[in-house]
Amino acid sequence: MFYNLIAEPKPIQFLKGVGPSRAKAFHKTGIFYDVDLLFYFPRSYVNRSSLLTIKQVYGKILKDNFFIQEPNSLDFKEEVTILGKVVEKEIRTTRDRKKYLVVKIQDFNGDFANLIYWQYPDYYEKYFEINQFYIIYGIAELGIHNEITFHHPETERFDQAEQFELQKGTTIPIYPLNSYFKSAKINNRILRKIISESLKESLHKIEDILLNEIINQLGYKDLHYTIENLHFPQNPSEIPKLFERFKFTEALVFEIFLAFNRQNQKLHSKAPIFDTSKSIIKEFHSSLQFELTNDQKKVIKQIFDDLKSGKPMNRLLQGDVGSGKTIVAIFAMLLAKANNFQSAIMAPTEILAEQHYLTLKNLLKDFPIHIELVVGSQNAKHRNSVAKQISDHKVDIIVGTHALFEGNLKFARLGLVIVDEQHRFGVEQRSRLRELAAKSLGNGFLPHLLVMSATPIPRTLAMTLYGDLDVSTIKELPQGRKPIITKIVYESNLDKMYEFIRKQIKKGRQAYFVYPLIEKSEKIDIKSASEHWELLQNEIFPEFRCGLLHGRMKAEEKEETMQRFKRGEYDILVSTTVIEVGIDVPNATIMVIENAERFGLSQLHQLRGRVGRGSIQSYCFLVTDDKYNSSMQKTLATDSESKSVAVRLKTMESTTDGFQIAEVDLQLRGPGDILGKQQSGLPPFKYINLAYDGEIISTACKVAFEILTYDPNFTKHQKLKKFLDLKMIDKNYFGVG
Ligand code: ADP
Ligand code: MG
Repeated sequence: MFYNLIAEPKPIQFLKGVGPSRAKAFHKTGIFYDVDLLFYFPRSYVNRSSLLTIKQVYGKILKDNFFIQEPNSLDFKEEVTILGKVVEKEIRTTRDRKKYLVVKIQDFNGDFANLIYWQYPDYYEKYFEINQFYIIYGIAELGIHNEITFHHPETERFDQAEQFELQKGTTIPIYPLNSYFKSAKINNRILRKIISESLKESLHKIEDILLNEIINQLGYKDLHYTIENLHFPQNPSEIPKLFERFKFTEALVFEIFLAFNRQNQKLHSKAPIFDTSKSIIKEFHSSLQFELTNDQKKVIKQIFDDLKSGKPMNRLLQGDVGSGKTIVAIFAMLLAKANNFQSAIMAPTEILAEQHYLTLKNLLKDFPIHIELVVGSQNAKHRNSVAKQISDHKVDIIVGTHALFEGNLKFARLGLVIVDEQHRFGVEQRSRLRELAAKSLGNGFLPHLLVMSATPIPRTLAMTLYGDLDVSTIKELPQGRKPIITKIVYESNLDKMYEFIRKQIKKGRQAYFVYPLIEKSEKIDIKSASEHWELLQNEIFPEFRCGLLHGRMKAEEKEETMQRFKRGEYDILVSTTVIEVGIDVPNATIMVIENAERFGLSQLHQLRGRVGRGSIQSYCFLVTDDKYNSSMQKTLATDSESKSVAVRLKTMESTTDGFQIAEVDLQLRGPGDILGKQQSGLPPFKYINLAYDGEIISTACKVAFEILTYDPNFTKHQKLKKFLDLKMIDKNYFGVG
């Protein structure tokens, strides 16, 4: 919570209306003092205009069902609030003898809705009283007889006085109630009383940490006014802006904290200084078959600036699939070599490592540079000889997988570490390679680190997660690339698609057919892809040559198949998702993704990125069941899964912009899911929602920068300094550091 305490707080049990047993419930909720309670904000508000009649709810549901929303409007699970009187309640049993409670309520217009309780039906049966009024808050659905139905909605008894208040136009706060509150008999009415008490008694004990100047500039209100009005709004339309103030403060403190961290890192560590004026760079540049894009040039400059600074580079290079990150990495590695340092590039899979190895060999063939590959499947004899060459500094560039830090490799002056497809590695793994490098440098030197990611990380996440990294972004695709045309194909239309593909292959193009893992078991995976391979090869495209690639094949077999596809010996490559990352075959211009509904957005985007890598028009087909077709136009199916499928596929059809896709993905799945378990470094934000608050975070970032630049000693921002000093004592604040 973001304030400074300027008077003694009072333990919660001494507040009017609390007492020992209620105090316990508050303690379990994390509320210990009167001032803590000030920040226990309502989860919603009820007033005349937010309250819907049952008729209005009905209209809303019909509208939602018939018009599927635009891909970027994701609020298909919006909650509604109604007020009604209990007229009937009945415990019923299903055919398989499960008990449930149906409560019938009636609103002022005389319309009815049902509340259904599957859990604790007996408890709720006692809780609801006939003829009593309740506020109902939840997601409304249509029942089998088209009646409005709520499953386990939140409810709140609403007495005469409150109804009267409502009629007068008052906005009534609804607080989140947990089970501790419920068992201590703290309901909303009681909470409202206690909180209004603490507002009177305790508000003066806290002061803002922000300067008025900043608050005014951003259109926020004074802290005391904000808190008061979040609890008891005079003007409900202000609420979102009032609340935003806490999001902003939280983001600001976080950004300042990160900046401190970064400064510290820079102050206290050193890295080899690379001379960036080496002629080999120019020579390499002019040897390229293509012009670098402006973004590539910009990024190379940023990296070179880091490399000559004497401070370790810690940079994230973000660029969509096909944006040309590899070249950028090569420039950096060449510079390392020219300065007599080794560099290593680590990829998440052997296929990808091998591909990098071949690309590097090819692009650097006219330069005196020794490149070696280190992967787990190599035989011991070969590995040992490579290891020896590496430790003797006979090797300049080492390409590999995690075998780079797992086998006992000894590097010689490893000054630059590059991690490709960063999201596949944990933070832990990148630091292990970095440690090995530091050991090879000695004298307390750290290597330069560049992490590259094609999974576009939404801006907000990048800023928070990689706050310790500087971020470079390539947005611009190489010239002549045509946006991939993406189409959803329903299974009943497959023939048309096959015809289209046949024509394209006859023109000399190649196609990928990708199948999902059906179950976790790999056996089924093989069966599925190879079954389809048989079907495609024998019945649909007997005139073409189809290759098969799946996860159970040995590395050499996989490599062999890939190489044959690359050489054009196969027209079609049938595959499981093993090709997801990094494969580069510019002549392959068709991507068919089967059972597309089974893939998440970022995976679909990665897969699609396998085509559109040359100047020829490319196509991506998302094949899915016809049942999702109906859900995209008009349907009464309300299940959120098919809506989410619709949003995913429609998003893919409508954009190729990885960042836009990432934003939608973030909104669909939330940050935790996107980053997976490996990346547990997400700060536990209280107010910020990473999926929606990108802009607020950007503003906070800017303000933090201004403060640190123009007032580095916080002479003007005394209150903020006081707050930060207290927080800084706790090193693990925000889970960083
Ligand atoms: P990614 O960013 O996905 O790793 P790559 O580095 O594999 O992308 O590049 C994709 C393809 O684009 C490669 O074939 C590469 O040679 C090519 N490429 C990279 N930069 C350019 C450019 N400026 N102009 C044309 N082609 C380029
Ligand atoms: Mg790549």
